[in-house]
Amino acid sequence: MRDAVARTWEARSGVRFTGWGTCPATSSGIRITISDTGPHVKALGNRLNGMAQGMVLNFTFNNWSTSCRSQLQYCIDAIAVHEFGHAMGFAHEQNRPDRPSTCTEPAQGSSGDWLIGPWDLSSVMNYCNPQWNGNGNLSATDQEGARLTYGVTWESLGGGLVGSPSATSWGSGHLDIYVRGTDNALWHRWFGNNAWSGWESLGGTLASEPAAVAWSEGRIDVFARGTDGSLIHKWHDNGVWSGWESLGGQIVGKPAVVSWAPGHLDVYVRGTDNGLHHRWFGTNGWSDWEWLGGELTSEPSVASWAEGRIDVFARGTDGSLLHKWYDTGTWFGWESLGGTLVGGPSAVSWGAGHLDVYVRGADNALHHRWFGNNAWSGWEWLGGELTSAPSAASWGTGRLDVFYRGPDTSLRHSWFNNGW
Ligand SMILES: [Zn+2]
Repeated sequence: MRDAVARTWEARSGVRFTGWGTCPATSSGIRITISDTGPHVKALGNRLNGMAQGMVLNFTFNNWSTSCRSQLQYCIDAIAVHEFGHAMGFAHEQNRPDRPSTCTEPAQGSSGDWLIGPWDLSSVMNYCNPQWNGNGNLSATDQEGARLTYGVTWESLGGGLVGSPSATSWGSGHLDIYVRGTDNALWHRWFGNNAWSGWESLGGTLASEPAAVAWSEGRIDVFARGTDGSLIHKWHDNGVWSGWESLGGQIVGKPAVVSWAPGHLDVYVRGTDNGLHHRWFGTNGWSDWEWLGGELTSEPSVASWAEGRIDVFARGTDGSLLHKWYDTGTWFGWESLGGTLVGGPSAVSWGAGHLDVYVRGADNALHHRWFGNNAWSGWEWLGGELTSAPSAASWGTGRLDVFYRGPDTSLRHSWFNNGW
């Protein structure tokens, strides 16, 4: 039964049911009693919190629905998916005011106050579903409803992070994640051949979170604030790590880096004047620092969708998302894109003319805006419990990977593959 809940609601949304076991007399949460009667809940959603015998499940069926005796696991699982849907706050689909006349099951129990999607005959919450409780399989709209109310699904990748991670990809199916560990050293995990590596320490003493970028397969450049407040740099080339070098400056918080072509790096930092400062690396080595103005209240984030195009984002003095961009030799902005940010944004581009920006909102959830077809989307709420700014990477069109620190300080990961 726990597996049935895990492969449905938990797999398709951010919800997680924890604390399974015998309930102490005063426990909060969902309190389940097992009884050979009709399974039900006594209330929806958080009204079940701490309610004794709030959810009733049947594991034997000797008395109620005896046809289940020959298919015990099927019945237990299909019922559990339905009843846990109620625990998440979902009412019966046949209670909807737009129920068609072809569905003659009477409304039963509380009705909802938010209609998600059109009438859904395939919902596990629909008595008219020709498959009983959907056979315990969520419909597309069930999954959408779970995402809209509990956020997108996530996995924990462990570790103990100080602040936000930094993610980059050098090619399809490959991700590199860099974090500042509790020992202030640089730590690294990567994803390749469909599996995650363990954590490795790369040493150093960081005074900010790292920022990493890959300009080609096998090449990674990592930047951070050093203990003297300057920008420090370490790189990986063909299997060998360099030491740390200082690139000077006095920076506040985490730097931002992007590469628009092999051999080219653009590094943006918040200076002690809260302005945006920039250095780049190209055929002539490192440039001097360039001042780009602005009044930042977070570290910047930068994306590039083509050679000669840069988009920089940061949090402004009013807490909103600021945007400045560079196109074929000219700087534009700043413009405000609204929202209320906690900490810095994370921007990424999967292709020309396309940007995705992720932020931690005032509710500590992940929020998202994107730019495509020459227009900005509205803000989209993606849920999650962030204790750091997010970091996003893309290895190709239609693919996004977002990382952040969870409540237990470990690394969390959500991904979009033409759908969350
Ligand atoms: Zn029900």
